[in-house]
Amino acid sequence: MKHKELRQKVCETNRLLPKLDLAIFTWGNVSEADREAGVFAIKPSGVAYDKLEPNDIVVVSLETGETVAGKLKPSRDTATHLVLYQKFANIGGIVHTHSPWAVSWAQAERALPAYSTSHADYFYGNVPCTRKLTDQELKEAYEKNTGLVIVETFEKNQIDPDAVPAVLVAGHGPFIWGPDSMKAVENARVLEECCKMAYRAEVINPEISGIEQSLLDEHYFHKHGKYAGYGQ
Ligand SMILES: [Zn+2]
Repeated sequence: MKHKELRQKVCETNRLLPKLDLAIFTWGNVSEADREAGVFAIKPSGVAYDKLEPNDIVVVSLETGETVAGKLKPSRDTATHLVLYQKFANIGGIVHTHSPWAVSWAQAERALPAYSTSHADYFYGNVPCTRKLTDQELKEAYEKNTGLVIVETFEKNQIDPDAVPAVLVAGHGPFIWGPDSMKAVENARVLEECCKMAYRAEVINPEISGIEQSLLDEHYFHKHGKYAGYGQ
């Protein structure tokens, strides 16, 4: 994909955030990688979604995070996106927002349990919540260490980032990914909806235990061709 097409697509997927009620003001950013070209494109810092143009999108190196094309400053979260692209080899698009339902779970420092088939269609198991960053990690390299604490959460809990394409960062909010930025936005919208429904379910019945593994398998594997045949 040429820079031009990549920037057009990333402009479009960023502009979806307010339309899908995932971001107010500039509370979110979307990026997409072109791994062959060794770059990813990301929203610039501080530009309102309705003013965003393809030329505003910043193209940065997947190796160093330095700007390759674009006049504006890349989003403050660029270093987090960079770590995720570097450590999660198959992902091609990332979304970060402060969408209220997902942030509620992140603030509560709780993983989102798999309570429904809507969840199981997109996330194969709980969506994990990270630990908090230490003061040292915050001071030293906040955005980069946010990425590293996400990777640590997946490694420690042996979660496959391709099967659970989202995380809640404690006290902050969600990062969601997918094969490209459009799919990542879809996953972000579904996560928000699942966070809302899970909260309500717990209010209605605090004893709730979540769906059975067999129902989770049935839904996840039915939807995800690459795992078709697993667990049956
Ligand atoms: Zn944030």
